[in-house]
Amino acid sequence: MNSKETAYLYTEDFLQYSFHEQHPFNQLRLQLTKELLESEQALDSEHVILPRDYEEETILRVHSKEYVDIVKRAGEEHPVSFASYGIGTTDTPSFPGMYEAARHIVNGSLTAAEFVMSNQVKHSLNLAGGLHHGFPNHASGFCIFNDIAIAIRFIRDHYDAKVLYIDTDAHHGDGVQHCFYDDPNVCTVSIHETGRYLYPGTGKTGERGVKEGFGYAFNFPIDAFTEDDSFLDTFAAIREITDYFQPDIIVSQHGTDAHYLDPLTHLHCSLSIFEQIPILVRELAQQYCDGKWVALGGGGYDIWQVVPRAWAQLWHIMNGHPAFQGPIDPVWLAKWQPQAPSTLPNTWQDQWTSYKSIPRRQEIMETNQRMKEQVLKFITNNKKKG
Ligand SMILES: [Zn+2]
Repeated sequence: MNSKETAYLYTEDFLQYSFHEQHPFNQLRLQLTKELLESEQALDSEHVILPRDYEEETILRVHSKEYVDIVKRAGEEHPVSFASYGIGTTDTPSFPGMYEAARHIVNGSLTAAEFVMSNQVKHSLNLAGGLHHGFPNHASGFCIFNDIAIAIRFIRDHYDAKVLYIDTDAHHGDGVQHCFYDDPNVCTVSIHETGRYLYPGTGKTGERGVKEGFGYAFNFPIDAFTEDDSFLDTFAAIREITDYFQPDIIVSQHGTDAHYLDPLTHLHCSLSIFEQIPILVRELAQQYCDGKWVALGGGGYDIWQVVPRAWAQLWHIMNGHPAFQGPIDPVWLAKWQPQAPSTLPNTWQDQWTSYKSIPRRQEIMETNQRMKEQVLKFITNNKKKG
């Protein structure tokens, strides 16, 4: 694929989205990923696109004016708490300039969407985006503005395209689902660790949309400690959903917190799933959407051992290459090792250090399998009716 077919959204302004030093959401991962790709000579400057500046109106298509004004005030009056708006909480504390920081990320995802929809590129990537827990009137789970919902709304407003949203973050994509729950032109699909033990607690199989949007929300809550095979077997359901929905564009969220080293979740997957997910999403975008695919970042809290490799693979695969194999470029390792809290992995694939095998493996696989069949039964039944 030539360079004009993909866009990589980046600006150092993305790094302003920073709650405080000890907060798990750390955008240094954006710089780590970009420099890893550059040292592997897999990201040329001609791929890199600066976000355009969009009107605040684009944000107001998803968020209330009241909430947007609160975010502005929180950034000016920091430290401050507006608990009923989810700001100033442990998860989403206020910080100076938080409105501007959140807006840079929104601009990144809007630019990514516009580049694809106006046929300037086939695929685009904004790793700063993917803030799927943002709600119209409140912040949640480290997410201030929901850049995904804003970008999807922009696509709906300006291009009238049918949008398939695919969320593989370990947490349920609750904010995006909420924004389009009654919309038959936006189909949301989320695979995540069951809400029995994990924030935000939603994303049950029975959440299928309401009114006109009924049948256009799909949730695959997988068991804690799910491993690669079962994750990927469940995720393969996306083929049937794409065929059922017939989208014009895919917007995907690529949180990497399903990895077994991630400190915030209980899933037990390896980097292998972060190679397989983009391979399948890209194939579906080619098959159903003339290639139209906007990929975004998301969660990912082991920023040294997991996120840079996982996201570098996403970009590489998006460009039509097979996944990186073998050793990591030593120049990148030498630069970042002094800052890393533990030894950086020196190969692209996991070496299974500190991986503990799971005693309930068979039981977890069977539970996930039954759950997947239950969710897909809806499509089968619908086809019979149609
Ligand atoms: Zn997450």
